[in-house]
Amino acid sequence: MRADRLRRVVIVGGGTAGWMAAAALSRVMGGASGLSFELVESDEIGTVGVGESTIPQIVLFNALLGLDEGDFLRATDATYKMGIEFRDWTHLGDRFVHPFGTYGLDMQGVAFHHHWLKARALGDTTPLEQYSLNAMTAYRGRFGHPRPDLAQSPMSTLAYAFHFDAALYVRLLRRLAEGWGVTRSEGRVVDVEQDGETGHVDAVVLADGRRVAGDLFLDCSGFRALLIEERLRAGFEDWSGLLPCDRAWAVPCAFGPAATRLPLTRATARTAGWQWRIPLQQRLGNGYVYSSAHLSDDEAAGVLLANLDGAPLADPRPLRFTAGHRRRAWIGNVVALGLAGGFLEPLESTSIHLVQTAIARLLTLFPTRAFSPLETQRFNDEMAREYRDIRDFLALHYTAGARDDSAFWRDMRARVMPDGTAYKLAMFRENGRILRDHHEVFAEASWLSVMSGKGVRPNGYHPAADTLPDDETLARLAAIRDVIADTAQDLPRQDEYLRQLGCTLAPVGAAA
Ligand code: FAD
Repeated sequence: MRADRLRRVVIVGGGTAGWMAAAALSRVMGGASGLSFELVESDEIGTVGVGESTIPQIVLFNALLGLDEGDFLRATDATYKMGIEFRDWTHLGDRFVHPFGTYGLDMQGVAFHHHWLKARALGDTTPLEQYSLNAMTAYRGRFGHPRPDLAQSPMSTLAYAFHFDAALYVRLLRRLAEGWGVTRSEGRVVDVEQDGETGHVDAVVLADGRRVAGDLFLDCSGFRALLIEERLRAGFEDWSGLLPCDRAWAVPCAFGPAATRLPLTRATARTAGWQWRIPLQQRLGNGYVYSSAHLSDDEAAGVLLANLDGAPLADPRPLRFTAGHRRRAWIGNVVALGLAGGFLEPLESTSIHLVQTAIARLLTLFPTRAFSPLETQRFNDEMAREYRDIRDFLALHYTAGARDDSAFWRDMRARVMPDGTAYKLAMFRENGRILRDHHEVFAEASWLSVMSGKGVRPNGYHPAADTLPDDETLARLAAIRDVIADTAQDLPRQDEYLRQLGCTLAPVGAAA
């Protein structure tokens, strides 16, 4: 065994990030290596308590923990998510889905959407989402697991994530982590001790005087960023000039008489931001994310409460944030995860994913007490790049084809978009090309769905699409649509599916 191996990992903070890290690290690195994990959290301070919508990578995270899907769904009030429905983003009344999964069928060696663009040029106005099994299934309130074994079926293109109750997920993660040997200390961190020579953190000191020492510290203290910023001054890359929203109100509500439970997060554009609606088994999660430069807090709360699909179940809770990330998320023996590392905004549900990828990178680069600067740099570079990729995709929603019916939306139209967003838009506008530069989390289909959903229409398409005769293109597209519609219709309703897994669902008023 290596003499310089880590012996004690201390996790500061017990929100989603802290307990995700505790569960994953104890699962993978615990046991024989003689490594101990201690998590410090303060009930007095609490957690942000939001973070209920995810992207498909969460399925992999739960699998890493060995979680049975039924157990997870029952324990966290969870439902399935097949994408995000955007309403009113270009004008009142419009809607499109950004689905997980892919569109149609690639043909003649080029991506499907080039054939769809050709069909449009021929006068066929069928919306893109009719070629997405995810979207068509979700609109019908149905659900199916992907079938990678059926390579010829659109079932192989399905992908899914979850909506869940963040507090219940934390409870589940805690139970798992404690089962794998993680110890928990309740207490407020009031001081940080550092080595005079290396600057490494030696211990955190709690309000009652206890001292928690460690070799590696994970700063999961949320927006406070106790270690990485307050103590180590990592610096913050502030993107509030590129992403306009900086506040939110969050409130749960009951399913009212007209409410549905589709496997979709809903994001409805409002005059100074957007409103989320997340259906769980027992309730709906809601929030209004807005720009404080364009709307007062009271007005925002009023808009949220006036646009619920049922009676509120609590008072709305205010949240404040600045879009951006730590310039260095790993310094010496401190690694920041979750909100301590950064936050952009909730529009594409990427924050829990960023916790997950930070944990994955930490596992890949799991340090010794030598703390290689090369490895630390690698971690920081990769995190910064991932934040940038997500920022560019989020900016697309605010800038391309935006509304112009309020000061906020007119400001969005006038804003300079990030270079990455502008480049991808320009490539698409010219000849319908969408090129993924590296392993960006939002791949071609995601850019396609939002660009086309926001009404961006390319001037051309790949010439290879013309190797099919026009009538053949139209006939094949019609056949693909039919197969997708039939397949979606044959899948079970999500509510039945969940009930069969033993979930208890609050009744919904309206049929999906
Ligand atoms: P927190 O939940 O704030 O936890 C911080 C922890 O640190 C707490 O346990 C606290 O007690 C502890 N702590 C702090 N200071 C001290 C101290 N001095 N001593 C001891 N302990 C301390 N993400 C998604 O993926 N999907 C979404 O739909 C989504 N929606 C969001 C909506 C909004 C409006 C916001 C703001 C965020 C949203 N997020 C979403 C992000 C998501 O909520 C967070 O990424 C996730 O909850 C992780 O938070 P955290 O654990 O880093 O911080």
